[in-house]
Amino acid sequence: MARSAAAQRQKTAPTRHSLRSHVRITKAQSTIGAKTIKTEPTEEELGNVFTIKIKEEQEGDVCDDTKEPVKSEHGLAEDTILTSSDSPFPTFAHPTPKECELVHATLVGIHGERTRPSQKVAPKDVAGCGTSQSVLDALVRTILSQNTSNKNSTRAKKSMDAVYGSSDNWEAIVKGCQPKLQEAIRTGGLSVTKSKAIINLLTQVYEKYGKYSLDHLFEATNDEAMSEMMSYGGVGPKTASCVLLFCLERPSFAVDTHVYRLTGLLGWRPAKATREQAQEHLDATVPDHLKYPLHVLFIAHGRTCERCKATGRGGGGAAPCKLRNSNAVM
Ligand SMILES: [Zn+2]
Repeated sequence: MARSAAAQRQKTAPTRHSLRSHVRITKAQSTIGAKTIKTEPTEEELGNVFTIKIKEEQEGDVCDDTKEPVKSEHGLAEDTILTSSDSPFPTFAHPTPKECELVHATLVGIHGERTRPSQKVAPKDVAGCGTSQSVLDALVRTILSQNTSNKNSTRAKKSMDAVYGSSDNWEAIVKGCQPKLQEAIRTGGLSVTKSKAIINLLTQVYEKYGKYSLDHLFEATNDEAMSEMMSYGGVGPKTASCVLLFCLERPSFAVDTHVYRLTGLLGWRPAKATREQAQEHLDATVPDHLKYPLHVLFIAHGRTCERCKATGRGGGGAAPCKLRNSNAVM
């Protein structure tokens, strides 16, 4: 089965028991373009836990991505230049694999370990973002989640399922035409754009393959899968990367609003990088085995930390940020 083969490709994130005592990282290995970089942080290095510096911020400017990121200290900046020609910023030296390991361990300490579920089950109670056994369903779910909250995209998904009788009644959706779908997903925001994108996707897939399925992408390479998904209107790099990461279970570092903001704070990308450039850069630099857990943990942090929430102003009575107050912030 292609899916079980894909599952076998999955690497399990290293287990960490404590941030400050014996943090064990079996091996960090990053394949960047044609170059393979290995790093094995020592206990001593990890004992110092987290020598990464997050740029100092003024109260309330959590979302300000325009400042210059602060470079890492304690030799991290002297690490091998890790970026490759795959990055739009080949001379930007962060994040290093070690920085990724340290921030991952910090976030695990705050939010708990995140590993891929052993079985992908398309959730019925939320729209999800790429979590489905069907590539086409994952793409539609991710399109619904574009530029809106989980709550809104879930409302749109439930409404769509109710109108068409099931969650993947693609034929009925196409036959019903775009205005009906637009109305069905109205509560999810951007319903005109999203309904057009979904109808366009379904129509093109059917014309191309004679069926409503993109499951052949389980057998495709990462580049082939990204390329095909992005060939459909309305599917951008973030949407395609989410499907690659969650549905196809490949190492891909999708950059959403939380990931973009937090990686800006960490100085993991140039301050002025666009979302797309940030994704290209981070996909080239974050070690493969950390792409899934770091993506999920950044989102968990961005959604729950009072200081880092997109909607929060970060100051006043907001609870302190455990990431910023950890030894990760020197
Ligand atoms: Zn925070």
